[in-house]
Amino acid sequence: MSALAVPTPPYMQDESLEIFARSAGRFLDDHCGPEELAAWRKAGSSPPDLWKKAGAAGLLGVTVPPEYGGAGADFRFEAVLIEQLAARNALNFAIPLHSAVILPYIVEYGTEAQKCRYLPSAVAGETIFAIAMTEPSAGSDLQGMKTTAVRDGDDFVINGQKTFISNGLLASTVIVAAKTNSSAGAKGISLFLVDTNTPGFERGPLLHKMGQEARDTVELFFSDMRIPGDALLGEEGEGFAMLMRNLPQERLVIAWQAVAMIEAALTATLGYVRERKAFGRQLLDFQNSQFKLAECKTDATIAKVFLHHCTERLLAGTLDAATASMAKYWITEAQGRIIDQCVQLHGGYGYMDEYPISQMYRDARGYRIYGGANEIMKLLIARSL
Ligand SMILES: Cc1cc2nc3c(=O)[nH]c(=O)nc-3n(C[C@H](O)[C@H](O)[C@H](O)COP(=O)(O)OP(=O)(O)OC[C@H]3O[C@@H](n4cnc5c(N)ncnc54)[C@H](O)[C@@H]3O)c2cc1C
Repeated sequence: MSALAVPTPPYMQDESLEIFARSAGRFLDDHCGPEELAAWRKAGSSPPDLWKKAGAAGLLGVTVPPEYGGAGADFRFEAVLIEQLAARNALNFAIPLHSAVILPYIVEYGTEAQKCRYLPSAVAGETIFAIAMTEPSAGSDLQGMKTTAVRDGDDFVINGQKTFISNGLLASTVIVAAKTNSSAGAKGISLFLVDTNTPGFERGPLLHKMGQEARDTVELFFSDMRIPGDALLGEEGEGFAMLMRNLPQERLVIAWQAVAMIEAALTATLGYVRERKAFGRQLLDFQNSQFKLAECKTDATIAKVFLHHCTERLLAGTLDAATASMAKYWITEAQGRIIDQCVQLHGGYGYMDEYPISQMYRDARGYRIYGGANEIMKLLIARSL
């Protein structure tokens, strides 16, 4: 039994994708072995140096246009990279967040000067990006954010706080969402490109998490942080609209990571149940194991087929918020069910951290919460009824 029964659809059949997958795989084999991955989990982040190596190997910002240093490729390449990371249990190396979630904001909304300043160094791995929306008292309800950006002459002065920010420790530039007009609701939110060496910018210590320990997550604090007017990304008051336009792609990035993790989990579990014996039989000989894995394979296959459907629509520019929310919600719920079952089939070993399935179980739990909690996905889907 193969892990999944999904043939590669025509839109993913492309020799350049295969070449990219092989080259990414080689890089990850050389730099992201089990020992390195364990060390990063202990340290709480991936090493900044590795980002530069990944940049030199052409793994960062592959969709950035060539005039700004990228390969001018499309989202399929990001998907292939996600699969390569997941196959090595290396999704904690948060390239997809940097490249496929954050850089599109600069490509799509940046001025020429902002693109020239940030994109080449992001592609080279010299600038690592984070995006800061969530606050201690405003996560799902982003419009309730309290961070303010007040115009003062040509500058903006930012005050406030963000929390749970991925890449927050390593980042040298953060896209910060702040209120430029506190009485204008969604139209009062703007986005800013904030360099982390700006006076008034501070990071809290690493937050200790249930999983994804090698993805650095911190709080950010801004106190009378003065930034120039040209740090505004896009139009003033358009921040919320930009977030809403780009969140469907972020949700597909999460869904691709979830499906790729499911495939890795099923592959590991199939290997395990073929090897391990109880009552003188292979674990896979028990009908319960077969039925449970049959259910998992069915769910995973449905997830991947739907994911391909959504990705084709993303590439065609027709992926709407409700459909992207269905992918994020349904696939991450399936991920939770499947990986839980995989742990069960590993028995006590599944509970031991030296087995990747235990780490996947902990890592997977965040997927149903971030990128918009799954309940918020259902709200967005319900609006399309
Ligand atoms: C590991 C990790 C990394 C993250 N990285 C980032 C990052 O890089 N940048 C960033 O900006 N944020 C990041 N986040 C924050 C994440 O996006 C938020 O945690 C998430 O959107 C939920 O917001 P909240 O935590 O404030 O929960 P709340 O908004 O307080 O919601 C708590 C729960 O209440 C329920 N709920 C809330 N509203 C509704 C509703 N209207 N209807 C029904 N149920 C509801 C949901 O079950 C939800 O999970 C990260 C979070 C985690 C855990």
